[in-house]
Amino acid sequence: MAGSRRGCGCVDHIDLLVATHPHADHIGAADEVIRGTNVGNVLYSGVPHTTKNYEDFLKAVDEKNINLVRAEPGQSFELGGGALIRVLAPIAPLFTREDLRSGGNEPNANSVVARLDYGDFSMLLTGDAEEQTERERLIKNGANIRATVLKVGHHGSKYATSEDFLKRGEFKLAVISAGMDNRYGHPSQEVLDRLKAAGVRVYRTDFQGEILISTRGQEGDAKVSTAREPKPNEDMWAGRQALRDDSARRGFIDFGDLPPAPKPKDEARSNSNRNANANARRTGTR
Ligand SMILES: [Zn+2]
Repeated sequence: MAGSRRGCGCVDHIDLLVATHPHADHIGAADEVIRGTNVGNVLYSGVPHTTKNYEDFLKAVDEKNINLVRAEPGQSFELGGGALIRVLAPIAPLFTREDLRSGGNEPNANSVVARLDYGDFSMLLTGDAEEQTERERLIKNGANIRATVLKVGHHGSKYATSEDFLKRGEFKLAVISAGMDNRYGHPSQEVLDRLKAAGVRVYRTDFQGEILISTRGQEGDAKVSTAREPKPNEDMWAGRQALRDDSARRGFIDFGDLPPAPKPKDEARSNSNRNANANARRTGTR
């Protein structure tokens, strides 16, 4: 998504809205964004999906008569001032269900992968593409994946961000977008270990909130600011535990397929203190 900000800090214009794939954590509420702002173009993967979220998104695009572009390698979009978005994937043939390892799914594997170039600054945006896409499409087809910043694939899933991908990408910085106490175990310890071994500086939305990167397009000038510092108990290199092992299953693991998220440690502790206090009051031991 590339747009301009008003004085209030809110976005009123979006040159290009990239719907990397049709899952709700990527296009949920996109219909409201499309209706509430001025969107120039919408880029999408074209992988069919039948959820209400996705249908609402397509309906909003249609209603506002926005140019809907199905992503293909070689397309590029000028964002002004010399900034350019290039589409790298999906690369035909699209992955089918049969092509994918268990746990994988077509919307993720066929995510729109794009790169942003602005002078010497560059950023690779990978959607929820995983290792199979990295290896069998991007690397195999010689896509230019070398970039200053990596927006880490699939929220730091262990199935994405392979060692070879990191080696070829030569990324300096990486941003992981993951929800606090998410049930999927994002980011995984495996990916954090691979990023650390590759010498990449990591930023995480679960620990740091909104992450803003500014650059004038000069080598090494990228400045990163975050909404907050990690708390003392938040180790940037510590991964999360998944609530279920997904390695033996095929298809998308929906939010409802997972048990409720555990309570954050601090909250659990204060709750147990409260309970202990309540028990103490009840039994008069206090
Ligand atoms: Zn996702």
